[in-house]
Amino acid sequence: MVKARKLSPLPVFDEASVRTFLEERGIKQLHARQLWKVIIKNRPKTLQEADGLAKLEMGKQLPTGMVAELAEHFVLTTSRVVEKHVSGDGTVKLLVELQDSQRVEAVIIRHEGRNTLCVSSQIGCQMGCSFCATGTMGIKGNLLGGEILEQLYHASGVAPIRNIVFMGMGEPLQNYDAVMDAVRGMTDVKRFRLSHHQVTISTVGIVHAIKRMTADFPQLNLALSLHAPSQALRQQIVPSAKAFPIEKLLAVCLEHTRVSKKPLFVEYVLLKGVNDRPEHAQELGQLLVGASVIVNLIPYNPTDVAMDFETPEDDDVDAFYTVLAHDYKLLTTVRVHHGREIGGACGQLALTQPGKGESAGPKGAPAVNDIEDLMGGGGRRGAKKGERPWGKNRGGGGAAGRKVARAALGGGKLSHEKGAIGGVPSQVGKGQDRGDKEGKAEDQDGRGVSRRGMPAHVSCGQATWILSLAGASVAMAAGLVLLRLGLTVWVVQERHGSKR
Ligand code: SF4
Repeated sequence: MVKARKLSPLPVFDEASVRTFLEERGIKQLHARQLWKVIIKNRPKTLQEADGLAKLEMGKQLPTGMVAELAEHFVLTTSRVVEKHVSGDGTVKLLVELQDSQRVEAVIIRHEGRNTLCVSSQIGCQMGCSFCATGTMGIKGNLLGGEILEQLYHASGVAPIRNIVFMGMGEPLQNYDAVMDAVRGMTDVKRFRLSHHQVTISTVGIVHAIKRMTADFPQLNLALSLHAPSQALRQQIVPSAKAFPIEKLLAVCLEHTRVSKKPLFVEYVLLKGVNDRPEHAQELGQLLVGASVIVNLIPYNPTDVAMDFETPEDDDVDAFYTVLAHDYKLLTTVRVHHGREIGGACGQLALTQPGKGESAGPKGAPAVNDIEDLMGGGGRRGAKKGERPWGKNRGGGGAAGRKVARAALGGGKLSHEKGAIGGVPSQVGKGQDRGDKEGKAEDQDGRGVSRRGMPAHVSCGQATWILSLAGASVAMAAGLVLLRLGLTVWVVQERHGSKR
């Protein structure tokens, strides 16, 4: 049982608390939504200032005394950004200090016009995944829905956010009510105005919670951190898997994809000698063949936290990919790690201890907050011919990378040692363009985040999938067509910091 945290004052973005407050006073919920809208649009310094702005904006006042009384129990934000780190590839890591001095991270993965925010849902995590640094912290508490939304509020002050991935610290489905409260705030047209399609829940796999999510929020994207092709091996890597047989877990995930009409994103951290052998690739291929999935292979990152795992050899990653993509015709991506200087690598993002700061490279990261990214685009770096996009040649970035990302999204050609991406799903490219246009229009609306449009390629910390979330269905369909034609689709990813 996770110890309950009591905050005082409470976050005004916390829907559950505000709802109770208003109900007790017989005030309509509508007025809270009006207030939130004013706050998000104008970013006032105090609730009192928001009250005045509400009158100006709406031409009438909120119920007399509502905000004054609210201000006795609530504040605009209970957390604050105590450190901001920007990596060479533009990734921004926000170290957020909570009211009780505990810290979590939120990571902005920047793309041209399509920024993605990776949020934390818990302080620490109790799932204990063996390769994950956050897992070593144990669980220190659940975040309130309002605290999760505050991460978005803080991030929106840095850059307009178009996509959200719950891949920061914690297992979001273990804090279901708060996470879904936050999702409601993210997708409320009076608040952050994102589409459900722009929000991704990443889970290590809690069967009953996935079922609940499918019933409550069928439109959300789902990512499953699988990490092993069999129950026996999975239990070694992901201890919490003991409670959920892999077949049952996959069944509920695929039911979500059936309802959501979007593919399941399967994440697989490659651990040298543990789950990266050819037989594991075969087993994974057999497990997933024919299913509506996109597999994201994530070569393990070394961390500051003592662990026995090693990064797989590039050739082994290559071979693993080949089995999935070629033998089993699964749309497969390989994540490239970037921006380690801000401690944002997959599963090993550094959670800076107060006063310690962070230094360059994984060795320099003083502590760890894992934030995993899911899918995204706008890769900072693409593979040149003869390079592996994910391996020895990793690094670089900038315009060249973005060009490659665009190419992979349908706008051009990309080639490297595995083959070529030529004319990759034109639908995806079109979809992305459509999303850009929508995003631009929405940005002009001054909300800081877009309401609709194609989700950007999301990543946390430093990894990015080139496939967009919203465009994933289209990408999947188009990718499968290409695969049928015998083409090799390499999707270059880059890493901005991630957890699983
Ligand atoms: S990988 Fe995710 S679920 Fe596993 S311990 Fe880390 S944060 Fe928790």
